[in-house]
Amino acid sequence: MKYEAVIGLEVHIQVRTASKMFCSCPNRNGAEPNTLVCPVCMGYPGVLPVPNHEAIRQTVRAGLLTNCRIATFSKFDRKNYFYPDMPKNYQISQYDLPFCRAGYVEIGGTGFSGQPLANRKIGITRIHLEEDVAKLTHTAGQSGVDYNRAGIPLMEVVSEPDMRTPDEAYAYLTALKEIMRYGEISDCDMEKGQLRCDVNVSLRPEGQSEFGTKIEIKNLNSFRAVHRALEYEIWRQAQELDAGHRLRQETRGWNDDHVETYLMRTKEEAHDYRYFPEPDLMPVTFTEAEIEKIRSELPELPEAMRLRFRRDYGLTEYDAGVLTQDRDLARYFEAAARVGATPKLVANWVISELLRELGSRGLALADCPVPPTALAGLVTLIERKTINGTIGKTVLTAMFDSGKTPEEIVREQGLAQVSDDSAIAGFVAEVIAACPEQVAQYRAGNAKVLQYLVGQVMKRSRGKANPQLAVAQLKRYFEEQP
Ligand code: ADP
Ligand code: ZN
Ligand code: MG
Repeated sequence: MKYEAVIGLEVHIQVRTASKMFCSCPNRNGAEPNTLVCPVCMGYPGVLPVPNHEAIRQTVRAGLLTNCRIATFSKFDRKNYFYPDMPKNYQISQYDLPFCRAGYVEIGGTGFSGQPLANRKIGITRIHLEEDVAKLTHTAGQSGVDYNRAGIPLMEVVSEPDMRTPDEAYAYLTALKEIMRYGEISDCDMEKGQLRCDVNVSLRPEGQSEFGTKIEIKNLNSFRAVHRALEYEIWRQAQELDAGHRLRQETRGWNDDHVETYLMRTKEEAHDYRYFPEPDLMPVTFTEAEIEKIRSELPELPEAMRLRFRRDYGLTEYDAGVLTQDRDLARYFEAAARVGATPKLVANWVISELLRELGSRGLALADCPVPPTALAGLVTLIERKTINGTIGKTVLTAMFDSGKTPEEIVREQGLAQVSDDSAIAGFVAEVIAACPEQVAQYRAGNAKVLQYLVGQVMKRSRGKANPQLAVAQLKRYFEEQP
């Protein structure tokens, strides 16, 4: 039987704030366990939570960036459960009145497997804000609890069951992460646990409109794992259904080493969280004017930026795509392109040479010693034919090494291109005298040899000859003395 997969994602994203959600402990990863704690996030009796307004504002921004409607009246609720990751025995979350509802994220482009994806909108059911829980680690018969994570503001982004393939799920996650990073809402670093994702997937016979029984997969620690787990689970469910088995609602884990999902628990053991409104916190209200104010201050999103880069700077889809993968890279490019060099050339230099220099030195863009104006200066020197592209690469390396401007380096090292006709004529005469064999071949009709001769001129000028002039002079020589 042919089946169609139905996929919905629940994504937890830590909000980047200075302090935790309901106390003034720092919101930070990587500290010694249980050093960033206080009576509030340790759940001592008698303490009161104080909401972090910045986390609430960032959640509203996340909602606006994903086309959600923002609630003018919202509240926090208690989600009751007993587990050592939450010493209060409840988590402050949001139940029926989340901050954001009914949004969507657009996907398209190329999927994880390299196949083109149709442009589609993936619905967002809701985004609510809650407090993160402590991190449990289990090793060799011992368990550890780190409360540094308890109380970090955590958004939950629940998607509609709108995705149909692992590629679409991958694209949705990529788009969501890109939006959160552009919005400076979260770095979404999965390795640091800043983005965590549960996947729901069911199968239905092709053509059927009702959804099948959904299975949730946890323990997914990379987007690639999400893709692989979905591929596996779609295959597994199809086998089960083909064998005439009925699926039950269950939660499964993903084992990346064995490349398979395994049963964690069935839905009969599901919790009743006995949600009720958090009595220690006031409801949160926004006026329409306040929401519009936040909307007016939103940054441009990558998709809009890609279109603008293609339109305003004449970039290709590929160039615009590479430059907007990272907001800082996009800003770097724009800062360089605005100085006056041809934007398409600036894009080439950023994408090929600048990124290569950064990569080979293990530098992040933030630590790049070459400011955008200096890169623009380099491109301008090439455009004015003061230097050629090959010398340009040498100059860029020197700019990284010394922090000097391209003009300084060209002057100090005498790298300016030789565009002086008589100087080039000298090199051409030398080459013709030194390469009688190739000269004869050219005269015999082998036009390709010209490249070799130009190369020799470049070599003799130590790369500084203007190559167009070298070509022109060589051609002229052969025209005059065929
Ligand atoms: P639960 O009550 O089990 O948490 P929800 O209705 O809240 O279920 O949905 C949780 C997630 O599962 C959502 O992202 C939703 O899109 C997705 N989902 C719901 N039903 C299905 C289904 N039949 N197949 C796949 N995904 C589903
Ligand atoms: Zn605290
Ligand atoms: Mg749910």
